[in-house]
Amino acid sequence: MSVIDTVAAVSTPRGKGGIAVIRISGESTREILQRVFCPRGRDPVAHPRHAAFGEIRRPTGEVLDEGIALFFAAPHSFTGEDVAEISCHGGPLLTETVLCAVLEAGAVPASPGEFTARALMNGKMQLTEAEALGALLDADTEGRLALARAGMEGRLSHAVQALYERACHILADIFAKVDFPDEDLNSMGTEELSLALSALLHDVRTLAATWRTGYAVANGVDTVICGPVNAGKSTLYNALVGREAAIVTDVAGTTRDVLSETVSLGAVTLRLSDTAGLRETEDAVERIGVDRAEEAIGRAELVLAVFDASREADAGTLTLIERLKKVEGTVVAVLNKQDRTPRLDRTLLASISHVVEISAATGEIEPLKQLVERLYLQEGLDIRHDAIVANARQHAALVRAAEALDRALEALHEGISLDAVCVEAELAMSALGGVNGREVDEDIIAELFSHFCVGK
Ligand code: GDP
Repeated sequence: MSVIDTVAAVSTPRGKGGIAVIRISGESTREILQRVFCPRGRDPVAHPRHAAFGEIRRPTGEVLDEGIALFFAAPHSFTGEDVAEISCHGGPLLTETVLCAVLEAGAVPASPGEFTARALMNGKMQLTEAEALGALLDADTEGRLALARAGMEGRLSHAVQALYERACHILADIFAKVDFPDEDLNSMGTEELSLALSALLHDVRTLAATWRTGYAVANGVDTVICGPVNAGKSTLYNALVGREAAIVTDVAGTTRDVLSETVSLGAVTLRLSDTAGLRETEDAVERIGVDRAEEAIGRAELVLAVFDASREADAGTLTLIERLKKVEGTVVAVLNKQDRTPRLDRTLLASISHVVEISAATGEIEPLKQLVERLYLQEGLDIRHDAIVANARQHAALVRAAEALDRALEALHEGISLDAVCVEAELAMSALGGVNGREVDEDIIAELFSHFCVGK
């Protein structure tokens, strides 16, 4: 990719549609637009941000379609460069032909994500916002959509930026002390420095901890539904998925395989597997299903163990309860069929830390939803409005920053030279900068000179 090139691509999905949009970005956008678009009224280039109607042509003059052109003059565009958008009719061949005309007029095909990459490079967007844009386009649950929107609005990037600026301020202060010990710089004393570092560490850790919520929403919790035959596993699965995905039947052993689906339970995303009943079986096909179920339980982060609360425990139920004691993930005993008279002895479930009562057949699964939200969403955190870490990369960078700050404090308290504190604080700042994709050196120098009259 070269920023010298002017790039173009079809920005709407492939296939038939009412309209399609071809986007162009780069220095030659004006000329290219003028070569392929002949306005019937006002000239779009002379009137940025105003829709103009006209003919779409090949540079040879052959008319291809009628449509709308919009021009955005740099830097007031998505990419920060001159950008044009041509809307034509949405036939796949027609759209391709219009794109070809734009390429003939001087553009080169954009690579995947190139418009966003240019926006990043031109400072129109922070890295976290670009990631949020990707998540927004992929969002398939309300929770994921809300989280991505908050990211696009810059909730996380602003929070990280504020932490970064604090780190920068502290670091510039230490640098000044190290490099110019004789100057009267009015900089922080050791006690003050320690307080500032501790406060920053606390806030970095607090932000990093939001990954628990971000993870549950964006990544999703690996979940397995298990339980004795006919407890209502398939019925619960269907209630969560919202359609008849698993076969519900009264005949024991009909769920033969591990189905899997991404569903939302409240704001939490569950990556859900419905497994075959955990029971001994002679049936070879079902045996495979049971083995897979065993494997899935071993791997799962969340195990929803469904019990038929309207029946007394049989041998299969007792075996399952024993098996669950060895599970590493979080186990929830889901007492199903609450619409019937309860017969299951609940004291048998004493080893399971979470118990909820539901009726999958009637769709009463609210207690399960509330428990799962309590388990995975941080209390008081609003995924629509708060800064929340939304992917593993962001989380890893914040953890690195926290570790470095911790070491900086240790070095300070042990009275090791300020150089050591400096190295760690620099690492912390660089890790924080990395969240938003920043280079740090220039910022430190700017901060140093803005706060201290060094070298006057
Ligand atoms: P699985 O073998 O654990 O997957 O169980 P299914 O989901 O196939 O359900 C077994 C039977 O229990 C079916 O006849 C369901 O209609 C019934 N069932 C499931 N959930 C409930 C419930 O909440 N209440 C009642 N009364 N019946 C249920």
